[in-house]
Amino acid sequence: MIKRALNVTREADFSAWYQAVISEADLAEESGVRGCMVIRPWGYGIWERIQRLLDDRIKATGHENCYFPLFIPLSYFEKEAEHVEGFAKEMAVVTHHRLKADGYGRLVPDPEAKLEEPLVVRPTSEMVIGAAFARWVQSWRDLPVLINQWANVVRWEMRTRMFLRTSEFLWQEGHTAHATADEARDETLKMLEVYRDFAETCLGLHVIAGEKPENERFPGAVSTYSIEAMMQDGKALQAGTSHFLGTNFASAQNIRFQNAAGEFELANTTSWGVSTRMIGGVIMVHGDDDGLRVPPMIAPWQVVIVPMLRDNPDDAAIVDYCKALQADLAKQSALGEPVRALLDLKPAKAATKRWGWVKKGAPIVIEVGGRDVAGANVSVIRRDRLYREDGKLDSAVTARDAFVDAVSATLADIQTGLHVESMDRLKANIVPVTEFAELETHFADSVKNPGWVDVRWSKPTGAALDTVVERLKALKLTIRNAPLGQSGADHGLCIFTGEPAVERVLIGRAY
Ligand code: AMP
Repeated sequence: MIKRALNVTREADFSAWYQAVISEADLAEESGVRGCMVIRPWGYGIWERIQRLLDDRIKATGHENCYFPLFIPLSYFEKEAEHVEGFAKEMAVVTHHRLKADGYGRLVPDPEAKLEEPLVVRPTSEMVIGAAFARWVQSWRDLPVLINQWANVVRWEMRTRMFLRTSEFLWQEGHTAHATADEARDETLKMLEVYRDFAETCLGLHVIAGEKPENERFPGAVSTYSIEAMMQDGKALQAGTSHFLGTNFASAQNIRFQNAAGEFELANTTSWGVSTRMIGGVIMVHGDDDGLRVPPMIAPWQVVIVPMLRDNPDDAAIVDYCKALQADLAKQSALGEPVRALLDLKPAKAATKRWGWVKKGAPIVIEVGGRDVAGANVSVIRRDRLYREDGKLDSAVTARDAFVDAVSATLADIQTGLHVESMDRLKANIVPVTEFAELETHFADSVKNPGWVDVRWSKPTGAALDTVVERLKALKLTIRNAPLGQSGADHGLCIFTGEPAVERVLIGRAY
């Protein structure tokens, strides 16, 4: 058996494996505050790449960035009943603005410095951004308003897991206001499509875009859409959401405009967000038993050059050779940008460095020793296919110039390969099911990896939906979404109610 770089495998314990990747790839660590993590440079570098690529797409669709305050007056939330109810149980609240010594050597909030109105640490910014929209929007000429903010938010989550669900997380939140419901709906779906394309193209995460059932809607939304990715253990991850808010927030916040006929109308608003959770998705979809595999588009370094130095006079020639290689690589472009190549000169053994980069998931690791220099070669390790069929590490000696010429194609090949793997896995693990009993059997065996089921349903609402949700909850299942692009009303019967079905939904276990 091959000895892997991690001491736990996905097969043995998926959840321990996930933690091991995060720590061995230097992505993040616990901070001492429950649910809040320290994102280390490699993890943050991936986030910066995600930000840059997604920000370009958000701007290309006409949105502008801006920034709103971290603290939101409590009374703002009280304006939208469903919204405050949805978020109340996870809000962090600031009540004082000063501390004082209590006489026992401890600092306590100064009762005289109690805020007149508590401030909520933003869990999302609809309420503060909507208040600005109410000021900004007077006439139909002011619409649409299309903005985005990159920020941190706090939701006091009870069950946390690094990246996937943290109490503080980083995200972008788009907020828009429109003259008509149709335009706002189009915007909601346009941004969902931006997320789908971004997840697939840049993160290599194949996803299903669809509408969330009523019980999973964002508090205060008319409809919520999501992209759902499948992890290697078959569970779903909601990787991003886009909400059509109708006039709910506009009426709570008085976002009104005078239309061309001079009449006052409520605006229709939307909001949409993705977070650092996506990095958790990248780990759980692309990681293997040697650590992470970072898709080249979001890899802070795409090619890492490790010189094999021996503390002897030949070292200088090796370093020079590596520097020239690094410079030549930087002149190449791959996936639309100059190649990001790092020369790793840290004082550590080459083998230690090699395995460090394997665990971090740099797409290509190059090793250069004296013999490579003499032969004008490099030794190439592709992170996506680390081992040969005989189980040996696949380190291929390649002519240096040929490697440089091919680097662009190689990185593109790794990027596509990871996406195709994720797509094949997702497609292979969605099974159509026509009876509830069949669904129960499918998920009964918790050892096997059951993926998701695709079922027809009558889209019950209210109490009837609650019953469905409870039946699924007993099996630890949730409805993920109703995939977009279904052709009309489906034939067949609802597996829950036996009534004629109106659409298909995906059901699975989820993070
Ligand atoms: P929401 O505003 O609730 O629609 O959240 C937008 C997106 O943020 C979700 O689709 C998730 O991908 C992500 N998200 C929500 N809660 C958390 C959390 N506690 N930690 C990390 N990401 C989150």
